[in-house]
Amino acid sequence: MKFENKTAFVTGGGSGIGEAAAVALAAEGARVVVADLNFDNASRVAEHISSQGGAAFAVQIDVSNADSVASAFALAKEWYGETTQLLVNSAGILGIHAFVDYPVDLFNKVMAVNVTGAFLCAQQAAQGMLNSGYGRIVNVASISAERAGIGRTAYGTSKAALVGLTRQLSMELGASGISVNAIAPGPVVTPLTEASYTPETIEAYTSMIPARRLGVLEDMTAAILFLLSDGAAYINGAYLPVDGGYLASGVSKTGKLN
Ligand code: NAD
Repeated sequence: MKFENKTAFVTGGGSGIGEAAAVALAAEGARVVVADLNFDNASRVAEHISSQGGAAFAVQIDVSNADSVASAFALAKEWYGETTQLLVNSAGILGIHAFVDYPVDLFNKVMAVNVTGAFLCAQQAAQGMLNSGYGRIVNVASISAERAGIGRTAYGTSKAALVGLTRQLSMELGASGISVNAIAPGPVVTPLTEASYTPETIEAYTSMIPARRLGVLEDMTAAILFLLSDGAAYINGAYLPVDGGYLASGVSKTGKLN
């Protein structure tokens, strides 16, 4: 049990990558706070973990709201009697819209959830981590931090900023035994993407990914748990693509020598 006696706070824990990370951390012995805007989903995940013999409780959080974040971390401390040692910032929204008339309110909202949310949660978590001289933070960024996509004006900008935030925090917290890293998932099969991707979308992505498949949740949790583990103690401020080679690929993607 890699994370026995550790407390973990997972934002976006009610769905997708955050849910998978919460379940995987609990299976490795962590006591998990499943934090999500959607309290019903967070409760469902916490109940599932408890039914498997793990320790979890659900909390409603709006990561873009400082008061909500402070209350959720205070509740977590009250519940477990100690501060958060492991933080996974997975809460995120997409906000797809054409650039020319991209609504500024939507732009600000995507930035508030995807960037300010990680900032606020890391700030809360860091207070306890600094006192104990130990902590691990993993931010779930995206290949969109580096590769532009139509309609992703806010999303791509927010994920690039999240990678920048990761580096900034690693500088200020590294000397205190705290590491801050990011993963950059490529397209991942989740209930959401399964419902929205057409066969053509999947075919287009698959042809661009050297591994010739989309990512699955297990690919993401393996990377997140590694960066949270003791074995990753000397990795700090890093940005790890978990994308089957998508970001590495360039021309001649067909695999043929031409
Ligand atoms: P998802 O929609 O399944 O989960 C996101 C969760 O965040 C939801 O449970 C939602 O309720 C929660 N959330 C949204 N706004 C919130 C807020 N203000 N406060 C607290 N929680 C909030 O999405 P996912 O696919 O699991 O994505 C998780 C992360 O991974 C996101 O940051 C996303 O950008 C990133 N990502 C996903 C993919 C992919 O293909 N699925 C690819 C690259 C990056």
